[in-house]
Amino acid sequence: MVSVAAVKKKMVKICRECHRVVEGESCAVCGSSNLSTDWTGYLVIIDPQRSEIAKKMNITLPGRYALKVR
Ligand SMILES: [Zn+2]
Repeated sequence: MVSVAAVKKKMVKICRECHRVVEGESCAVCGSSNLSTDWTGYLVIIDPQRSEIAKKMNITLPGRYALKVR
């Protein structure tokens, strides 16, 4: 299941490597500190195995992601 919602972009950082929402200074999944605040499309992935978007984006873990990161 995937839900797409508009959220305030302010202060939300996205990992450029895996597109995951990052809280803090580095990504909890891949460890990257290559973060962006310039992104579009908020995604909540609950069940990656059943999500077409998750498959396309190579997402294997549930969580919050951005569709596009610049
Ligand atoms: Zn990452």
